[in-house]
Amino acid sequence: MRIGAHVRQDSDPIGFGEELGAEVIQMFVVDPQSWDKPQPHPRTEQIKASPIEVVVHSSYQINVASTNNRLRMPSRQAVALQAQAAADLGAFGLVVHGGHVRSDAEIEAGITNWGKLFERQQDKGGFAVPILIENTAGGNHAMARYFDSIAKLWDVVGEHGAGFCLDTCHAWAGGEELIGVVDRIKAITGRIDLVHLNSSRDEFDSGADRHANFAEGTIDPQLLAEVCRTAGAPVVLETPAEGVADDLAYLREHLS
Ligand SMILES: [Zn+2]
Repeated sequence: MRIGAHVRQDSDPIGFGEELGAEVIQMFVVDPQSWDKPQPHPRTEQIKASPIEVVVHSSYQINVASTNNRLRMPSRQAVALQAQAAADLGAFGLVVHGGHVRSDAEIEAGITNWGKLFERQQDKGGFAVPILIENTAGGNHAMARYFDSIAKLWDVVGEHGAGFCLDTCHAWAGGEELIGVVDRIKAITGRIDLVHLNSSRDEFDSGADRHANFAEGTIDPQLLAEVCRTAGAPVVLETPAEGVADDLAYLREHLS
C-alpha cells in the first residue's frame, strides 16, 4: 500500500517524503494561489530517480467548468502546462478540482466544458499525464460535490480517460456518507486513482472545506482506515502539518 502526504516544503519534496517514510508524495508545480507558469524544478533528476511516487495538485483558481471565458481559457491552459510539468517530474497524474458554475442552470454547460477540455487537448496529443478529477466539499452549483452530479459529469469525461481523486473530507463535508464510499464511487467512475485521506473540522454536509487530523476531526478514523484499505489506490494525506506523522502512524497501525 502506498501512503504519503502533501509536501509542505516545495524546495525538497523527496527529503520531505523520506523524513515521513512516505511511499507517495503530492506537490504543486506553481504557487497554488497564482496563475504562474511552471518552471523546471531544480531537483527534477532527484525526484524522477526516487522510488517515492509523485502526483501533482493543480493550482486553486483553475475552474475548467466555468462559463466565463476569462476564467475558463486560462484554466485550460494552466491544466495543460501543469500536466506537462507533472510529466517532467515523472508524476503519475495531475489533480484538478471539479470546479463550479454560477447557477444550476449552467450545470449542463459546465459538464460540456469539461468535455471540451479533453477534446481540445486531444488535437494536441492529449495531456502529458492523466487528469484526476477531485470531488469538492461545497460551494453552490459544484460539478463534483454530490455523487449524482459526478455521475452526470462522468457520462461526458469517462470516455476521455479522466481519472478520479476521492477526498474523504470533501465527500463527508459535502454530504456523502463514507460507509461504502469506495464501491459507490467506483460504480460511477469505474476507478479511483488517488485518495486524499483527510478528516474534517466540520460536521457532515456542512459544505465547508477544512481538513483536520484524524484525532481531531469529525470523521471516525476507522472509516478513514477502511477507505485506505479498500480503495486500491495511492493515499495522500492533506491534514494539518503538525499531525501528519501521527495520522500516518495511525494508518500503518490499523492497516496491518
Ligand atoms: Zn484534496
